Amino acid sequence: MKKHNFYAGPSILSEYTIKNTADAILDFAGTGLSVLEVSHRSKEFQAVIDEASQLVKDLLNVPAGYSVLFLGGGASMQFCMVPYNLLRKKASYLDTGTWASNAIKEARLFGEVDVVASSKDANYSFIPKDYTIAPDSDYFHFTSNNTIYGTEMRYDPETDVRLVADMSSDIFSRPVDISKYDLIYAGAQKNLAPAGVTIVIVRDEALGHVERAIPTMLNYQTHIAKGSMFNTPPVLPIFSALQTLRWYRDMGGIEAMEKRDLEKAGLLYEAIDSSRMFTGTARVEDRSIMNVCFVMKPEYKELEKDFIDFASARGIVGIKGHRSVGGFRASLYNALPIESVRVLIEAMNDFQATR
Ligand SMILES: *Cc1c(COP(=O)(O)O)cnc(C)c1O
Repeated sequence: MKKHNFYAGPSILSEYTIKNTADAILDFAGTGLSVLEVSHRSKEFQAVIDEASQLVKDLLNVPAGYSVLFLGGGASMQFCMVPYNLLRKKASYLDTGTWASNAIKEARLFGEVDVVASSKDANYSFIPKDYTIAPDSDYFHFTSNNTIYGTEMRYDPETDVRLVADMSSDIFSRPVDISKYDLIYAGAQKNLAPAGVTIVIVRDEALGHVERAIPTMLNYQTHIAKGSMFNTPPVLPIFSALQTLRWYRDMGGIEAMEKRDLEKAGLLYEAIDSSRMFTGTARVEDRSIMNVCFVMKPEYKELEKDFIDFASARGIVGIKGHRSVGGFRASLYNALPIESVRVLIEAMNDFQATR
């Protein structure tokens, strides 16, 4: 049976990405070798990483003066790499969820951290908006999409200090004005590739201002100087990332992705809002178009498990909410077809009709 994949990450990839990756596992670029066994120094792989980097620049309109890196270690590694490389004395962070607070925890190892606002007391159900960023902060860090709680900042915050964003779960879902940022990072396993690679887009000029010694592997300048090939990069995830980036280009670019994403999220939120049984958990104006979090209303709460089973019988996979929110989470990443959203909505409607 066809599965409708709503996993939060690792998560759905385009059929194009999976098919081309499968083909390259058997024969990579006509080399007669698998992409699993080819040298990262081969000219065929060099072409892959070069094209992937160029496509990130093209799709996101990355201006001159920025580098695009493909690093290992996951987005969580960036929680320490960012302050290692950028925090001189003080940094400001917005606490909008588990990932943001993990980033804060790491930054505290390197200097003073000003948490400008937090929605923790409301189980991160909204994005705080009333805060001021100290002008002497080395940078302001925020998480654009809170994967666990289903809230999202679909705008580039205004600030006079350097801007750093964790865009792991919504990169490529809206055009971003890169020139406002000094550093953006994103683990690949939400909207790009299998787990194992993290994209970093960094303004070159933002680096080199801290006095501490930075271990070679944790220094962005190492990876910039070597074109992400200081050591062996995650070859297979980068190959898959290239496939997804080509697919984005061929689908009409990021504007086209955003249009699709808005339509999918719009349909699902409409179904939730008009339902007698389900209700959303995130404040309406902050709702994410990538991760839609919802629960059953208190009077139906004991039916949550039944609905998961009901949906799973229709091929719907991965809608169980994160344990800190409960209920359901439907992740609607770029590769998810609108048909899957329609199948989920139909399952919700049919389930309600039987109870
Ligand atoms: C998944 C996720 C992370 C953690 O990514 P890893 O690659 O597992 O370290 C960090 N931030 C956000 C917003 C995420 O969604």
